[in-house]
Amino acid sequence: MRSLGQLREMLPGSFVERKRACGRPNCHCADGKNLHTQYQISVLVDGQPKTFNIPAALVEQVRQKIELRRRFEAAAANVCNINLRRYLKQKEKP
Ligand SMILES: [Zn+2]
Repeated sequence: MRSLGQLREMLPGSFVERKRACGRPNCHCADGKNLHTQYQISVLVDGQPKTFNIPAALVEQVRQKIELRRRFEAAAANVCNINLRRYLKQKEKP
């Protein structure tokens, strides 16, 4: 795992931004316009979709860790495609 370096920080799922009212009648959100922003991780856990709230202090960190995983997956998918094409070519040759 050590050689994976920064990739050890990867987080699964997607980063979700939600607007919501908190329900307190005296809050600024009660007008239905100035809503609170809640950030969440949306992820499959044992095949079930789950969402987890992200505390404000961790939002930027979580956003980056999910983005890191997206880039990693995109790069891995790209390599897999190239390798599949290589394999299919190689297989044709006697
Ligand atoms: Zn509120």
